[in-house]
Amino acid sequence: MTSATSHDDDHQEPRFILYLQGAAYQTAIRHLAEWVHFALLPLYGKEETPSSPWCPLWWKHPEAVARLHGLFMAWHDLTSETYERSGPSSWHRDHLGTTMEELRDPRGTLAGCKAGRHQAKEAPLTEEYTTPPKSTADSTRRTTPEFIFYLEDDGYNAELQKLTSWVRYLIMPYYGRERSSDAPWCSRWWEHPEAVGRFHALWMAWDDLTGWDTDLTGPSVWHRDHLGPVLRALRHPAGPFAGCRPGYHRALAPPRVEPFPRDAPPPFTPAPTGYLPDGQGAFAQRHYPPPLRQ
Ligand SMILES: [Zn+2]
Ligand SMILES: [Zn+2]
Repeated sequence: MTSATSHDDDHQEPRFILYLQGAAYQTAIRHLAEWVHFALLPLYGKEETPSSPWCPLWWKHPEAVARLHGLFMAWHDLTSETYERSGPSSWHRDHLGTTMEELRDPRGTLAGCKAGRHQAKEAPLTEEYTTPPKSTADSTRRTTPEFIFYLEDDGYNAELQKLTSWVRYLIMPYYGRERSSDAPWCSRWWEHPEAVGRFHALWMAWDDLTGWDTDLTGPSVWHRDHLGPVLRALRHPAGPFAGCRPGYHRALAPPRVEPFPRDAPPPFTPAPTGYLPDGQGAFAQRHYPPPLRQ
């Protein structure tokens, strides 16, 4: 729960592995592997079946590394120094179940590695976003996070530039499962407003939950409450990318609406008397005009 300072470099708390590189990454993944091999799998690892795949070379799957590390951090927080006696129970309920479900999803990242044979997967292609020329230095400042739909013109473009880099270099390499008709993807996802909104919100949550001074449960909570729902919504077969194929983008039209009338009547007229019990009668006694006829 303490934040890292220059004076406690040798502190033992794990930091989220997606921020680490080089020797720090090697140390972190060694600790993680030790925990996975000698604690997690012997205690909680269910048998490998087609509906619950597993890969003996799990560390070659970026998504497995990220999710298991989040689970490991939560374990560290909730079980080793149990400041609340309900910690271990919370870990089982809030972290173990969802992590293993996502990881061992029959269509998830380990799905191709049958019978112990690892099969490398490639994330679907994402093009590079090119900012329209006219952005000013001032608008590229990102101080307090502001939801992207409040930004305009240059501010929007500058924010989108950074967001697209984050998605291209972090989200897709780690969590970008293969494209299929069951899991569509668009290499120009920023042309879908829903994807811009959901990814930007996910990025704001990332800032909040994975930084160096956040709780050790942060990454696991981010996987469970933010990443999972966003990817499920965006890559749903009927989601925003349903009309897109590799090399082909098609925006889906939002449903049609009529112009809103100046005096819209309420959507229904309550029954005049008798249906509502005493005490709620005021509602039934109101008189509404009959619905407008077109
Ligand atoms: Zn594998
Ligand atoms: Zn598209």
